[in-house]
Amino acid sequence: LVSRAFHPQASVVTVGGVRIGEGERPVVTAGPCAVESEEQIIKTALAVKKAGANLLRGGAFKPRTGPHTFQGLREEGLLLLSQAGKEAGLPVVTEVMSPDTVGLVAEHADLLQVGARNMQNFDLLRELGRSGKPVLLKRGMSATIEEFLAAAEYILAEGNPNVILCERGIRTFETATRNTFDLSVIPLIKELSHLPIMADPSHATGKRSLVPPMSKAALVAGAHGILVEVHPEPEKALSDGPQSLTFEGFDRLMEELKPLYAYL
Ligand code: PEP
Ligand code: MN
Repeated sequence: LVSRAFHPQASVVTVGGVRIGEGERPVVTAGPCAVESEEQIIKTALAVKKAGANLLRGGAFKPRTGPHTFQGLREEGLLLLSQAGKEAGLPVVTEVMSPDTVGLVAEHADLLQVGARNMQNFDLLRELGRSGKPVLLKRGMSATIEEFLAAAEYILAEGNPNVILCERGIRTFETATRNTFDLSVIPLIKELSHLPIMADPSHATGKRSLVPPMSKAALVAGAHGILVEVHPEPEKALSDGPQSLTFEGFDRLMEELKPLYAYL
């Protein structure tokens, strides 16, 4: 169901009125790694909207490596994200971690994210296939392209064609960057599948300074959009501060992307 051979025409997925896919202007999804407070998420929503973002991101259920770190505001975070999206006029995307919270997250979000750590949580994928909501499926940190597409297949097989793929870097021997940004999968996925493909240069690199150049690289490689972490005070962020752009940094990136659109 996900393959180009089966479905030659590129798919466009609509998220809260925003069209994502081939032939559409690439979209920018921006926001904090995690929703931390009402003030933080509203400020960020308004700032990224002003700079030209198309969607607002913010984690409420956070898949943290260890159990003693901030785990997200959960349901309260969902409500704050949804409120911020409405105030800024942006559709919202947030991660859903378990099959039993798909209904809850689907009530408040426009796009449901499957994190890298859950790419092969097959019960979650099946439940999302029945949710009726668009899904943003991130590539697992050690997943092959075949496994990535097979994971998407689970969602389509349950009757949900609205899946957007996202390359977020893979684990390699290299430790200078958080992950290794596998840029070539962007054009490769477009050959193999009709589904839209986005890129997440924030998690792919783990370093704020690398986000602008890799955002540009992803768009030039043909990504249908980018996902960028932005925080009002990255040094105080409860997660992923080192890779988060400041408002000024995000404004600058959005300015730098403008001339690129003419070539995309
Ligand atoms: C995130 O988007 O904040 C996140 C946890 O991403 P990933 O699943 O790609 O690590
Ligand atoms: Mn993050």
